[in-house]
Amino acid sequence: MLVYKFGGTSVGSVVNMNHVKEIINTEGKRIVVLSAMSGTTNALVDISSLIEANKAQEAKEHIKQLNATYKKTVYDLIQDKDLHDVVVQYVNSIFSDLLEAVDQSYSESLHNTILANGELLSTFMFSRLLEQEGLKVALLPALEFMRIDRANEPDNFYIKQNLERLMQEANEADIYITQGFICLDADGAITNLQRGGSDYTATIIGAAIEAEEVQIWTDIDGFHNNDPRYVNDTQALSHLSYDEAAELAYFGAKILHPQTVMPMRALDIPLRLKNTMDPDAHGTLITNKIHGEGIKAIAAKDNITAIKIKSVRMLLAHGFLKKVFEIFEKYETSIDMITTSEIAVSLTIDNITHLKAIVEELEKFAKVDIDDYMSIICLVGNHIIYHPDTPELFQVLQDVNVRMIAYGGSDNNISLLVNTSDKLETLQKLQRYVFEDGTVSVLKN
Ligand code: ADP
Ligand code: ASP
Ligand code: MG
Repeated sequence: MLVYKFGGTSVGSVVNMNHVKEIINTEGKRIVVLSAMSGTTNALVDISSLIEANKAQEAKEHIKQLNATYKKTVYDLIQDKDLHDVVVQYVNSIFSDLLEAVDQSYSESLHNTILANGELLSTFMFSRLLEQEGLKVALLPALEFMRIDRANEPDNFYIKQNLERLMQEANEADIYITQGFICLDADGAITNLQRGGSDYTATIIGAAIEAEEVQIWTDIDGFHNNDPRYVNDTQALSHLSYDEAAELAYFGAKILHPQTVMPMRALDIPLRLKNTMDPDAHGTLITNKIHGEGIKAIAAKDNITAIKIKSVRMLLAHGFLKKVFEIFEKYETSIDMITTSEIAVSLTIDNITHLKAIVEELEKFAKVDIDDYMSIICLVGNHIIYHPDTPELFQVLQDVNVRMIAYGGSDNNISLLVNTSDKLETLQKLQRYVFEDGTVSVLKN
């Protein structure tokens, strides 16, 4: 069975929903995971923030505006009178729940419940569109099978059992539609897989049903060799390995939620990235196969904090690193990059929830300096560190202010830490030298 996932832009208009309808109009049973229509989750985040700030009137205005855009979409999408009425009723019930939420006291649970509405709306509307076309469709509520455990990991046993049960109950359907992003937590409360999490929903489902392939359909023709939001003339990569894709996603390539690849790699299920607006484009196929050597792609991750920890004894005494790592472990804060010298260690984190407490503990035995507004730039490619042309990179970087470099941690990754204010220029410089001038050889796609 195939699992398809369509992102916000792919379901972001009536025209695009109709493209999606064509793409999934294939043979056999399939599962279709949808995001919220583009802009909706951001709008819901804004509404939630206004409620938190006790700005009830403004929150209500935002809800009314969003409601108006949905009214128009439903009007343009569903012509069948009965189905139209069913959808209007559903949309109205969601928006009246939202208006009621404004008068409730704010909590994390209220926030998560508000955010869940985007995917509930898009899947309801889209499944009725398919019904209107006479397709055999069933809407599977993600909140009845998608659950994470106390460690925020997918509860795979629960997911598989409940998903199979729901599919069995709707056995007559050819197309199963479900919501990306939303799930239950270990206590049964509504939560989500973090922003961009619909990709992860698709691969969790793909693993649960041991899919033949998972396809992620978005607004670009696959994984590009650099971030197209910041750099011109980036190129789509036809193939990536799981490790390469996972590393790039973790280090900021927005096209994939950071966790997406994991369930696929574990079961060796192909993951294909495709463009909804250009279905004939090849896209990117992600498997366990490695294609080529040398630098293949670059990604950048923002909101990084660097911590320099200097041993007060001026010697990297035995047990010093152990003490440092134990503190980060105690506060469940993961470290991305690390470099050491005889007297100091520098490391980076992206979760600063416990930074104050961590620093207080470190200062009991070390001098600590913090730099924020940093970005990690990550260069990925098979055997990148052994490639004869890679040393050229350091010439390219001559006039970039690099705060840390991690080289050799893995064969396939070189990471640089720069000020976020230098990120754009560094990405563009790397693009020019690495992929355009051919100063550093790269894999030809
Ligand atoms: P969706 O809503 O379909 O999930 P996203 O906005 O989450 O789409 O991801 C697609 C976007 O990711 C692209 O439009 C592009 O701007 C951005 N992006 C960032 N890095 C890359 C990359 N390396 N390759 C392709 N797209 C990237
Ligand atoms: N709608 C959610 C978001 O905007 C999930 C997703 O699009 O993947 O983050
Ligand atoms: Mg996305």
